[in-house]
Amino acid sequence: MIKFLDLKKQYESIKAEIDYAIQSVINESAFIGGKYVQAFEEEFASYQQTQYCVGMANGTDAIEIAIEALELPKGSEIIVPANSFIATSESVTRSGHRVVFCDCDANNYTISIASLKSKITDATSAIIAVHLYGHPCDMGAINSLAAQHNLKVIEDCAQAHGGEYQGKRVGGLGNIGTFSFFPGKNLGAYGDGGAIVCNDQALATRCRMLANHGRIKKYDHQIEGRNSRLDGLQAAILSVKLKHLEKWTEQRIQIARAYCKGLEGVSSVKCPRTEEWARNVFHLFVIRTNHRDDLQKFLEANSIQSGIHYPIALPKLQAYTYLHQDQEAFFANRNDDCLLSLPIGDHMDEESVNIVCQAITKWSLSVNTTPLASEV
Ligand SMILES: *Cc1c(COP(=O)(O)O)cnc(C)c1O
Repeated sequence: MIKFLDLKKQYESIKAEIDYAIQSVINESAFIGGKYVQAFEEEFASYQQTQYCVGMANGTDAIEIAIEALELPKGSEIIVPANSFIATSESVTRSGHRVVFCDCDANNYTISIASLKSKITDATSAIIAVHLYGHPCDMGAINSLAAQHNLKVIEDCAQAHGGEYQGKRVGGLGNIGTFSFFPGKNLGAYGDGGAIVCNDQALATRCRMLANHGRIKKYDHQIEGRNSRLDGLQAAILSVKLKHLEKWTEQRIQIARAYCKGLEGVSSVKCPRTEEWARNVFHLFVIRTNHRDDLQKFLEANSIQSGIHYPIALPKLQAYTYLHQDQEAFFANRNDDCLLSLPIGDHMDEESVNIVCQAITKWSLSVNTTPLASEV
């Protein structure tokens, strides 16, 4: 059986360190706030090459709090790529703004710059750049559009810990970056967790206050906030795992390279492109094929798990019928039934990649290939 994700196997490889960290938090009753949270925030800021990091309860809250902290005009429009997890767009609506979807790029699947440009209006206040599947967005183009139109840039880095645009880590490239430490992410906690990172001290402080009842000191509530904190156990676990992240990320990159090589001659599937300016950290390895469901069934029958990210493009979800954007001529809207995520992560080795590639090659010989949806 080739698993899509194997967190048990990963735990066993770092069991002594993790168990020690958990026991230390319990021994010291450092459950909320305290030295483990502070230490992880410092380590993670340094890892992402930003000055500040504030732990949050999850990645969705992190986006919502980032938007609130930017104090954008009430009801203004925020542009979100059509190919992402619903958390990205949910946070926009929940913080009192209007979601405007734009298309994704047909090669690297991150936000399409041409489509983004076409969606900017006088009511636009911000852009959420989602570094989807671990591939950084074209931040140079996004930042120059933002500067031209006086927009804020939020980086949704939930899938891109350690990702780089032109050699610089994501998170500190726009105004504020948000992270998720959901267990299955590249850096995952043993429960929910999230963070924001930025290089603006006042903004970081506002986020910290919003996530902790509007206070900096106990009972000094300067504004109304909420409770969205990263807890001590998760922070201690994340500090242990952060030490291994570069090694695990390099493994992901090697696996992706092996997939691309192994699938080179298979014309019925298309591998993702990594732009020359990107360090793609391959949270997911997403291929395209016109016979997605058929391939998924074939893999399942051969004991190979796979996933779909995402089966329904955001504008087509029932939750967004009110926006009437499901009919937009987006690549994302017509390509969602072609996407298939192959197993990737530190649980995979060269042999398991070969098994997957051989299975796909065998499958491809039995299908009649039709051309894939074009870029325009
Ligand atoms: C996982 C994810 C989130 C949300 O993170 P949670 O910690 O699960 O709330 C947001 N955006 C993207 C792109 C994600 O993949």
